[in-house]
Amino acid sequence: MRGILVLATRNAGKVRELERILGQDLDLEVRSLSDYPEMPEIIEDGDSFEENARIKALAAARRLGVATCADDSGLEVPALGGEPGIRSARYAGSDASDEDNNALLLERMRSLEDPKERRGYFVCAAALALPDQILEDWGVQPPGDWDVTEDGISLWSGLVRVPGIVLQRPRGTGGFGYDPLLLYEDMGKTFAEMTFEEKNGISHRGTAFRLLVRQLEALS
Ligand code: IMP
Repeated sequence: MRGILVLATRNAGKVRELERILGQDLDLEVRSLSDYPEMPEIIEDGDSFEENARIKALAAARRLGVATCADDSGLEVPALGGEPGIRSARYAGSDASDEDNNALLLERMRSLEDPKERRGYFVCAAALALPDQILEDWGVQPPGDWDVTEDGISLWSGLVRVPGIVLQRPRGTGGFGYDPLLLYEDMGKTFAEMTFEEKNGISHRGTAFRLLVRQLEALS
């Protein structure tokens, strides 16, 4: 085992999804913030998915001194000026359920009938933060185009957008969040009608984390 990679989240669903992507290809022990009860809540006050992913990865790397990665994700509808966007989880209010958020989205899109206006994108930003000490322990260096913070943490992030059409009513029972509303045209299925493997193979989160794995593999 070359080392540890901590997922900067306590969301059990996300951990399961990401462990399956990261665990397969990497010579790393994957942990999450649930293994570090001393880590305080991270305030996500960025203005974009990418900023929020970087905030989460950096906060955990600083506090714990380990290699970390984080994601931030949601749904963007251009006809609604990019809503729900970074507020996807709490679109209908801070305690909103998936059903509440989906109902509000359908209500706001009620007058939009042209499929072009109903275009929506699942978006995921993934970020990777590697403290100097970890790079030294691993005997690797990041490529020159990564950012390095003043306190010596090397930072990479990437963003993936997957297009779909927001249906007028939900379809399918799998997944979570906005999955039953977004039709992935290439498969003719909503994300809630896909198997776990199908969704993971094409999803914003699956694709973003496969990019992240490639960054780790390319460290030399
Ligand atoms: P976060 O990345 O945990 O902040 O999640 C943001 C929110 O975006 C989730 O609560 C969902 O509402 C939505 N979301 C993110 N990824 C997905 C997905 O794969 N399917 C459906 N909804 C998603």
